[in-house]
Amino acid sequence: MFLRRLMGLFSLDMGIDLGTCNTLVCVRGEGIVLNEPSVVAVRKGTNEVLDTPDGKAVGLAAKEMLGRTPGSISAVRPLKDGVIADFDITQAMLDYFIKKVHGNRGLAHPRVVVAVPSGITAVEKRAVYNSAERAGARRVHIVEEPKAAALGAGLPIHEPRASMIVDIGGGTTEVAVMTLLDIAVCTSMRVAGDDMDEAIMNYMRRTYNLMIGPQTAENVKIQIGSTSVLEDELKMEVKGRDMISGLPRRAMITSEEVREALKEPVGQIIEGVLHTLEQIEPELAADLVDNGITLAGGGALVRGLDQVIAKASGLDVRVADDPLTCVARGTSEYLENLDEWGPALETDEDEY
Ligand code: ADP
Ligand code: MG
Repeated sequence: MFLRRLMGLFSLDMGIDLGTCNTLVCVRGEGIVLNEPSVVAVRKGTNEVLDTPDGKAVGLAAKEMLGRTPGSISAVRPLKDGVIADFDITQAMLDYFIKKVHGNRGLAHPRVVVAVPSGITAVEKRAVYNSAERAGARRVHIVEEPKAAALGAGLPIHEPRASMIVDIGGGTTEVAVMTLLDIAVCTSMRVAGDDMDEAIMNYMRRTYNLMIGPQTAENVKIQIGSTSVLEDELKMEVKGRDMISGLPRRAMITSEEVREALKEPVGQIIEGVLHTLEQIEPELAADLVDNGITLAGGGALVRGLDQVIAKASGLDVRVADDPLTCVARGTSEYLENLDEWGPALETDEDEY
């Protein structure tokens, strides 16, 4: 252990979960060392990252600015919909996070594994690759998010047996069936946690003439969101702007109402899962009867989501331990085994 830590000093290897909502960095031998929102604040019309008295406005500092910026500044989520909306800003963000972790340990250049949404294009992958390289990485491996999520969840994906992961993030839901260290069938949907927030915003507007911001909506989802009847139904107060009077006010919303609002995005996620199941080979389908489905990503934490997916698919569904860190832990696992698992896991890199 001590020796490994010492070696770690000389070769700092990093696994990065570049998520649409959150970016996490795992360092070999140390676990998760950074966990921040994937948000950057820039001067409007430029790619210049905003400087604050406390340093660069990236991550947590920038998230607090979302929806609260004056005209001259914009706080952006460069990966919001699972595609890289802005290459330069993504690069600035990745650069900032890598350097923050690498910091003053700067002995050797790190090896970096970056997990990216599986729906991103080759050009976007290339951009991530270049960004990591420019931030000082010695070697860069790009891995698809569901593969990392499955590794992090401890699924036996190296076996000739199907494992299924549903990773519900902010901008995308990735559904994948894996066997022999590779993806057999995979669907990447642009429906995930953000859409649940939006559905809650729409509900408040339609039902209460109240406009609420995305952060408030996210709070409602986390505090009282559910997909099936709760033993003790919940309620909470929300604040926003009245659409008729134009003035700030408050309202109460119940968990039954939130459930109603979440029906559509949750229904779409379930459809995606069923659609993926329909595409797999019979032997793999047979394996899933025993192995079931594992949920990862922050969206997996919505109360009762596992139950509704189980009901719709007829399969066992479980939520991975600590679903928000699953992908990051998976990248770290990937790093550990780069050498042993060899080319089967490195194929992604061959493209570059
Ligand atoms: P990404 O990989 O896209 O960055 P994450 O896996 O970090 O996404 O998950 C972020 C999403 O999970 C957000 O939409 C967030 O609101 C949601 N989320 C986080 N915690 C909870 C919770 N306890 N209940 C419901 N949703 C949650
Ligand atoms: Mg993710």
